[in-house]
Amino acid sequence: MKDLSKNYINGEWVAWSGETIDVHEAGTGQAIARVPSSDRVTMERAIAAANEAFDRWSESTLEARIKVLEQLHAGLKERAAEIAETVCREVGMPIKLATGIQAGLPATVTKTYLDMLPSYPFTEMSGNSEVQYAPVGVVGCITPWNYPLHQVILKVVPALAAGCTIVLKPSEIAPQSAYILAEILDGTDLPKGVFNLVCGLGQSVGDTLIKHPDVRMVSFTGSTRTGHLIAHAAADDFKRIALEMGGKSASVVLPDADLGAAVKGTINNCLLNSGQTCTALTRLLVPADKHDEACELAAAAVAKMTPGNPLEETTRLGPLASAQQRDKVLDYIRLGIEEGATLVAGGAEFPEGCDPNGYFVRATVFGNVRPDSRLAQEEIFGPVLCVIPYTDEADAIRIANGTAYGLSGAVWSGDQDRAKRVAGKLRTGQVFVNGGAFNPLAPFGGFGHSGLGREFGKWGLEEFLEVRALQL
Ligand code: NAD
Repeated sequence: MKDLSKNYINGEWVAWSGETIDVHEAGTGQAIARVPSSDRVTMERAIAAANEAFDRWSESTLEARIKVLEQLHAGLKERAAEIAETVCREVGMPIKLATGIQAGLPATVTKTYLDMLPSYPFTEMSGNSEVQYAPVGVVGCITPWNYPLHQVILKVVPALAAGCTIVLKPSEIAPQSAYILAEILDGTDLPKGVFNLVCGLGQSVGDTLIKHPDVRMVSFTGSTRTGHLIAHAAADDFKRIALEMGGKSASVVLPDADLGAAVKGTINNCLLNSGQTCTALTRLLVPADKHDEACELAAAAVAKMTPGNPLEETTRLGPLASAQQRDKVLDYIRLGIEEGATLVAGGAEFPEGCDPNGYFVRATVFGNVRPDSRLAQEEIFGPVLCVIPYTDEADAIRIANGTAYGLSGAVWSGDQDRAKRVAGKLRTGQVFVNGGAFNPLAPFGGFGHSGLGREFGKWGLEEFLEVRALQL
């Protein structure tokens, strides 16, 4: 069991001797690490350190910031195998995927900022005004467990690039990669106090972070429920907020689409990370006369996705991240049956051949799902696909836009222009057109209850910048 009873504050590892939180291995249920359940005083110390460091870092040169990010990039690449295995054990994503995504994406995203920063216009002229883009201040970063390092990097890298100082509170369920990040940053030229890590529960240290007057921005990724709390707390002293929250994304298959390719692409996306992906395409919208064929194709596709040990190279579907998440997903599968949807594949029974102490759930497909049912409206965050029949294009668009969320989506058609036209009607932050590839340079974020603000690229950097105009 790894003992991580410490926080990183003001450039030092500070030992923690109070209560701790156990981190569990998704595939075996065993406790594998211990982290602090820090108290509010510890969080206040970290905020004070970040506040103290702000003047110096906010006035640092772009070259100094780029140098630190280059050192970070090198460290992320050097420790990629360790990051992949750590997240694979904590979250349950199969090792092959974890290597590419959980370890690979943080380095890729860091590189996109390194490429962009040298030519980013931190000042520009507008008439007789010099417009300056200045760091917003001390930033509180609060992150979830599903892509634990990626979500941290999407905040920490642009915040550092902007000249902000940071207090990070990672998810208590998957915190270990944040410790690796702190170790890497500790070895860079970053001045003390610029980056601080405090581990603990949301309702204690998270709460202190979102309410503290010296924190001028909260950048949050997590559930819509917690996002609500943050928005309310921020309103009290007009903190800036960036919220990346849940989703219930629709994959719209138009009548002229290649149904086989659309179903396969949707299933692969829906089951990524066992469905624990905010952008998962969890609603497959098909023309009513193709519903049964789509269900057959979906059943055949998930039959190949049997859950297994995430540490094995050949595993494509791992366990869920926690016992709580597994129980929540199983409850939704039972609810789907109660609501009268057709169980096409999978179900709530424990999958054969898996470690009985691991948090495994079978890949599950429901057909004939009513668009207004809870199964089709609520984020399940597990390997569960809803197939929903529609009557015509307008009906498909209405159903696709008929949830509180709007994070991602997909449109499939034999006619690219038609697909783009329908994509342009979806009230959602991203749309994958005919299986278009994920792009780390594209803005990412949500409409409606999925979020406020955007991450990735220049949009991600601008979240951390205030605007000042000098009239000359
Ligand atoms: P969560 O909201 O339970 O927790 C997220 C973080 O918020 C954790 O660090 C937690 O400790 C903290 N927190 C909880 N209560 C808090 C409080 N009262 N004050 C301050 N902080 C608090 O979410 P989760 O279960 O860890 O993550 C899953 C959710 O995240 C899903 O809804 C998923 O869709 C969403 N998500 C969104 C994106 C995106 O980019 N839009 C990406 C990944 C995950």
